[in-house]
Amino acid sequence: MEKRVGHLFFCSFFIVLVLNTCPATSKEVDDEREFDYNQGSEKGPARWGYLRSEWSMCKDGSMQSPIDLLNDRVDVVSHLGRLNRSYKPSNATMRNRGHDIMLQWEGSAGHIQINGTRYELQQCHWHSPSEHTINGRRFDLEVHMVHESSLGKIAVVGIMYKIGRRDSFLSSMKEHFAAIAGTHEEVRAVGTVDPKHLRIGSRKYYRYIGSLTVPPCTPNVVWTIVRKVRTVTQEQVRLLRVAVHDDSDTNARPLQPLNRRSVHLYRPRERKGD
Ligand SMILES: [Zn+2]
Repeated sequence: MEKRVGHLFFCSFFIVLVLNTCPATSKEVDDEREFDYNQGSEKGPARWGYLRSEWSMCKDGSMQSPIDLLNDRVDVVSHLGRLNRSYKPSNATMRNRGHDIMLQWEGSAGHIQINGTRYELQQCHWHSPSEHTINGRRFDLEVHMVHESSLGKIAVVGIMYKIGRRDSFLSSMKEHFAAIAGTHEEVRAVGTVDPKHLRIGSRKYYRYIGSLTVPPCTPNVVWTIVRKVRTVTQEQVRLLRVAVHDDSDTNARPLQPLNRRSVHLYRPRERKGD
């Protein structure tokens, strides 16, 4: 018994150590029972920062995500340059994290490059409805493509969807979503997945500095939100929603204050075809 307590103590110590020495980490909390999305619940979004000391940024951070992307507050710029995506097909697995479905690339699936820093693609997962809003409007689905640099810096690319025509990437994942519905911590082999098939369809994007939107709410995340809102069918959103086990009808964190942050909207200079 004593030995076990000692072991637990060592583990918690180790976790704290790791979190402290790696200020930015893409390791989102996987245990669904530790937090939820129900407003007013004791494990709900307003309480995340009090649940564990390592999650204090969820309440203390002044540059958190998601935010409303309000056109009036956005600086339109052309200097950021086109989003540099260099993806390649790689073996992937899928896991039901309880509050969301995550697709994780096992080998190198390529990278994006921002300001000379290379961020390797790690995983993607879905939130419904969308976490970010544009001019106060919330959409039906948002995918987060999570990338990490060799120094542990995180960059997330978000793509939003509204109800309309079906999305071909989600269609290609349909059988896997159905197979992991209701499972817990089961890792399902998906085979080779080409991240390029998560289409963007526009050069315009918002850029701002925020955080992970789930505990530990890690700050200094470079956010890229694609301006074009793509489409999915109601059925595709439903499939993702019923697959997870939280009894909540959402896995979107409430909007966070902007607090004097600047938000850029990249738009290519007077070129046709965008
Ligand atoms: Zn996310």
